[in-house]
Amino acid sequence: MDVDEFRVRGKEMVDYICTYMNTLRKRRVTPSVEPGYLRTALPSEAPMYPEPWDNVMSDIESKIMPGVTHWQHPHFHAYFPAGNGYPSILGDMLSAGIGCIGFSWAASPACTELEIIMLDWMGKAIGLPPAFLPFSEGSKGGGVIEGSASECVLVSMLAARAAGIKRLKHQFPTVDEGLLLSKLIAYCSKEAHSCVEKAAMISFVKLRILQPDEHGCLRGETLKEAMEEDEEAGLVPFFVSTTLGTTSSCSFDNLLEIGPVVRKFPSVWLHIDAAYAGSSFLCPEHKHHLAGVEYADSFNTNPNKLMLTAFDCSLLWVTNRYLLTSALVVDPLYLQHCYDHTAIDYRHWGISLSRRFRSLKLWFMLRSYGISGLQKYVRRHCELAKYFEQLVRKDSRFEVVNQVKLGLVCFRLIGSPDENHQQVDELNKKLLTNINASGKIHMVPASFRDQYVIRFCVVHQYATREDIEYAWDVITDFATELIEGPDK
Ligand code: PLP
Repeated sequence: MDVDEFRVRGKEMVDYICTYMNTLRKRRVTPSVEPGYLRTALPSEAPMYPEPWDNVMSDIESKIMPGVTHWQHPHFHAYFPAGNGYPSILGDMLSAGIGCIGFSWAASPACTELEIIMLDWMGKAIGLPPAFLPFSEGSKGGGVIEGSASECVLVSMLAARAAGIKRLKHQFPTVDEGLLLSKLIAYCSKEAHSCVEKAAMISFVKLRILQPDEHGCLRGETLKEAMEEDEEAGLVPFFVSTTLGTTSSCSFDNLLEIGPVVRKFPSVWLHIDAAYAGSSFLCPEHKHHLAGVEYADSFNTNPNKLMLTAFDCSLLWVTNRYLLTSALVVDPLYLQHCYDHTAIDYRHWGISLSRRFRSLKLWFMLRSYGISGLQKYVRRHCELAKYFEQLVRKDSRFEVVNQVKLGLVCFRLIGSPDENHQQVDELNKKLLTNINASGKIHMVPASFRDQYVIRFCVVHQYATREDIEYAWDVITDFATELIEGPDK
């Protein structure tokens, strides 16, 4: 494809995407295909000779689309939103077009500098303390775009691990590092995302998973008891991962209690994972959830969830960037440049060397929507969740099980008095299976307080009350059929 054909095909592709978006309602939300469906539809080997573009595009509609789950569908209510604002799609397009690889400042100065500035804009907009922001006086802080929240948690844990080992090595210079590593222990709540467990597996450290309170919130006293107990047993607490807006129920850990506990232990790193909820802090009415953030060493959020920004865009801030970069630095000659002692080289801030120009999509989003436009989306998202909550509460067959603070409502059928815990779980499982099999709306389950619950998340950028009412009608129709039989 040469530039002239790209000009034509590029415009056609934008047209295709616009038609796709405008006609999404006509499609099933989830595909009805079996694993391996595509294997039988495509040749077993790559073509030896070029194929006409039109043929390739026609296979998109006939072969690929039947297997697509439409995350941007107005009736998609699973997981958390996968932001997809048009300015961010265009930002990704431009990033692909420029095609630079910004592993160091010198590798493409604008790529690094725009990222620093976007993280500064975002940090200020959501209300992070100056210690996280690179341009504040005396600050050692800074932010970076990682590929996922999982990576943010992992690199924070790796930095904390390196600092922990360094400190222990100083105390016990003759003890082998492997033995010191075996003493390190991290903490999180049972409600934390599974990526914390994965980070501990990769980091080869112990992880103690703590019981939250009845609202899914990790409390200071629980953490304190666990850390003291472990310290008495000869272990070394080094990392605490908290969550603002958990995946299962959108609960918030109590930072005001946890922060002072962590401070009592020498050099324990406090991380805050606000993958979903972080963007809500753009709104003053949600900023109170951040109380206690000043105790944290690192904080992450995904604008690719609640800030309409196309995946991937996971932001991580730290209060001491030197702890992060010293844990991840490897510096071969071919990557060095004459400014590497003064400029930021993002290759030392994460796992991968090569990195895309991801800050462009944030830049386009922030400038096209403005903070006010993004606040409007967040508010609408939360209002619609409250509306769904009201609908659930009006139907005595159901209960709402979480505190609805943002866009997630967890609910379940209560079941009849003669049904036990397991039977009620089975009932809800059946309800969700039937709904999802219909392809009319899509939701996913979660376990909350050891119960099977159904998660309903407001997702679509332009969701309306009618979409919420449609979803509730689908849910109640299936519930009636399940409880009373198909003829009712
Ligand atoms: N943390 C929280 C609170 C999440 O909700 C999620 C995903 O939904 C993650 C971490 C993992 O995000 P990612 O897919 O960006 O690794």
